[in-house]
Amino acid sequence: MINNPLVKKSLSKIVEKEHEENLKKRFKEYFPGEETPEGIDNLIRALNLPPEDIQYIANDIQETVEKTIIPIINALMDGIETDEEIAAKTEIKLNIVRKILYKLYDLKIATYKRSKDPETQWYTYSWKFDEEELIRQINEECEAELSELNATLENEENNMFFVCPQGHVRYNFDTASDEEFLCVCGEELVFQDNADIIKQIKKNIKLTKSDLKSFNKSIDK
Ligand SMILES: [Zn+2]
Repeated sequence: MINNPLVKKSLSKIVEKEHEENLKKRFKEYFPGEETPEGIDNLIRALNLPPEDIQYIANDIQETVEKTIIPIINALMDGIETDEEIAAKTEIKLNIVRKILYKLYDLKIATYKRSKDPETQWYTYSWKFDEEELIRQINEECEAELSELNATLENEENNMFFVCPQGHVRYNFDTASDEEFLCVCGEELVFQDNADIIKQIKKNIKLTKSDLKSFNKSIDK
C-alpha cells in the first residue's frame, strides 16, 4: 500500500507546504504590497521561477517523501512507537523524525499517546500510524480531482475559445465578444481548436480513475 503512487502523491503535500511557505516569503520580498497567490503552482507562475528551481523543488519533494516520510511510516507500521526508536531504526535524525511525526499528526494520519515514566517522571510519546485515515483521504483527494476534471471537461466541450496569438489571453466566446475579439496587447484574437485539450482531460480522467481503482484493490489484500 505504502509504495502506491497515490500514497506518495498524497504525502507530497507535507513537503509541498514547506516550499509553498518559502515561495510566499520570496513573493512578499519581490512584490511588497501585492496579494500573495495561494498554491505552489500559482506561486511558481507568479515568481516566474527558472526551470532549474522548479526541478529542484520537484526533486526535493520526491526525495523527502521516499527517503524520509515513507521510512518513518514504515517504522510506525512495524510497530515502532517512539521517536528515538524510529530514528535509530531509520537512521534519520531525531529532530527530523519529530518534525515529520508532527506533520503526520497535523494531517490526522498519525496519533500519539503521552505517558509518564513513573521512575524518571519523563513523558514518553507512543506514536501510531492511522492507515485507514490515509486511505480515506486518498479516496477523497481523487474524487475531488475527478470532479474538477469533469467540470473542466464540461467547460471545454460547451464553449468555443479565442486566444491571443502572443499567448496573453484565452477567452470563451462571450468574453471574447465583450472584448471585441481584441487582446489587451491590441492583437486580434483567433479561434482555438480545443480538441487536443479535451483529449488530454479525458485521458487524465481515465488515468485518475484507474489509479484509484488499483489503489483500492491493493489495500483489499
Ligand atoms: Zn496579446
